[in-house]
Amino acid sequence: MQTRVLLDHGSGGMASQRLINDLFLRHFSNPILETLDDAASLELQGHVAMSTDTFTVDPLIFPGGDIGSLAVHGTVNDVAMVGGEPKYLSCGFVLEEGLELSLLERILGSMAQAVDRAGVSIVTGDTKVVPKGALDKMFINTTGLGPITVDKPPSGARAADGDAVLISGTVGDHGLTIMSSREGIQFDTEVRSDSAALNDMIGRLLRELPEVHVLRDPTRGGLATTLNEIAVQSGKQVQISEASVPVKPSVSEGCSFLGLDPLYLANEGKVLCILPQAHAEQALQIMRHDPAGREASWIGSVDSGRAGRVVLTTRIGGQRLLTMLEGEPLPRIC
Ligand code: MG
Repeated sequence: MQTRVLLDHGSGGMASQRLINDLFLRHFSNPILETLDDAASLELQGHVAMSTDTFTVDPLIFPGGDIGSLAVHGTVNDVAMVGGEPKYLSCGFVLEEGLELSLLERILGSMAQAVDRAGVSIVTGDTKVVPKGALDKMFINTTGLGPITVDKPPSGARAADGDAVLISGTVGDHGLTIMSSREGIQFDTEVRSDSAALNDMIGRLLRELPEVHVLRDPTRGGLATTLNEIAVQSGKQVQISEASVPVKPSVSEGCSFLGLDPLYLANEGKVLCILPQAHAEQALQIMRHDPAGREASWIGSVDSGRAGRVVLTTRIGGQRLLTMLEGEPLPRIC
């Protein structure tokens, strides 16, 4: 019995058929995918959100998730950030010859579970196999589609004077988890990735609070970089207070040990929400009602100070500029 991925598995011939039938269809089966035509045939009307992302995370499996669930969450979340209701996903796999089929199967199982939980369907896919050494084990691309059902979709450009800046929970969990599992560093308390689908929470937020101006997931580059993007896009100044940004004690300890700043570490299950202050408390309540938003916090505000600037008030009361992340301290983080 074959236990590893062979070049033949990507040939389009018999071996590919077996791989598709035995593994992919078994995990991802749904009526649209099962037609096995050249493309999925979908019903979509009106305004549609679409997003794509390629996942190269190393290691493939880490505390709190794996490349399969991450590839679902990442794309589902990006579609949700512009007010889209994610419905359909495509997935493209690039596999290294010699990859263990049991590892592939484990990742597909996790991906299938993430798809079910997020309420989306994988409707089309592709698999390629490259010779050993041409890539490290496995990369996955996902594209997500879904109708935009809100009148005024959230956008970074809509941050306005007097808006409150909220974050749905602790920052830095994913980045520190990947960094420490790659380096084989153990901390006293386990750190876990926050990888999660946010479409449920965001759907509720937008239904109850159409006043939301901006939603964005602070992934690569972390909270600091994402706030800078929003400040530039809107031409506003953003001020946040360090003491109000939630950071797990284990993440904060790990970061000081490794000389990292949690404000610059990637998150994979958090959303920044910017909206008029009058609605901030209600937004916090909606987020805290969801398992992904238990530690939602009000961390700052938007004003018309210097356009494009992000200012941090430190714990001891000083102020410093938070700039965008420069360089890439953590390649293959997602
Ligand atoms: Mg995003």
